[in-house]
Amino acid sequence: MNEVKEHDSLEQMIRQQVIERGIADPAVLDAMRSVPRERFFSGDQRDSAFADKASPIGHGQTISQPYMVALMTQRLDLARGHRVLEIGTGSGYQTAILARLSGEVYTVERVKPLLDEAWERLMDLGIRNVHFRHGDGMLGWPDQAPFDRILITAGAPRVPEKLLRDQLRDGGVAVVPVGPDDGQMLLRIVRRGRKLEPRDVVPCRFVKLIGQGAWDDPSADDR
Ligand code: SAH
Repeated sequence: MNEVKEHDSLEQMIRQQVIERGIADPAVLDAMRSVPRERFFSGDQRDSAFADKASPIGHGQTISQPYMVALMTQRLDLARGHRVLEIGTGSGYQTAILARLSGEVYTVERVKPLLDEAWERLMDLGIRNVHFRHGDGMLGWPDQAPFDRILITAGAPRVPEKLLRDQLRDGGVAVVPVGPDDGQMLLRIVRRGRKLEPRDVVPCRFVKLIGQGAWDDPSADDR
């Protein structure tokens, strides 16, 4: 694909998959327009860059469907000054969108090669307000807490209450898919003091969140 074609495909993706499904926040749409999604796909997967689905990125993981990225981003209600914790960097696509809309992004990924590739892509795109860490995101990033926003981009078996109470600022918002392996509910959770107030957003299906207080590590050979 050449650049003009990719621009057209990106516009079409945003119109058909995002705007027509009700995402209207102009800042979210602008952020999606400014991030070349095809750059987050390796050669053999590039044809699916604008497809209406999650796609494989290696190591048994996936880049989220464009609509899901847009929806999660919109429900986070980001502001320019926000400090955001993202758990599950994956390809780095969602990370790039968050970086466009907030102040500083702290992103954690447990699969090192994915983290390294994401770092390279964001460097190439000139995105400099992202901090990368390899490890279990369920431990958060204590020395940078509290965060205004927390986004988890893998499916948690239950609400990660400890992480949210310890590292989400009072009044802050978290977006987290919660539920069994074969299908979760995307939750938008507001922290009010010790209370966590969850609201359902949409049924969804993400890869497993693996770590402390989440799913068990099935093996050690996927790192
Ligand atoms: N937003 C990413 C989604 C990647 S899929 C994208 O669109 O590309 C979810 C990612 O979460 C996977 O890369 C997986 O390795 C990672 N992950 C799962 N459990 C994790 C944990 N406890 N800490 C950090 N990353 C985790």
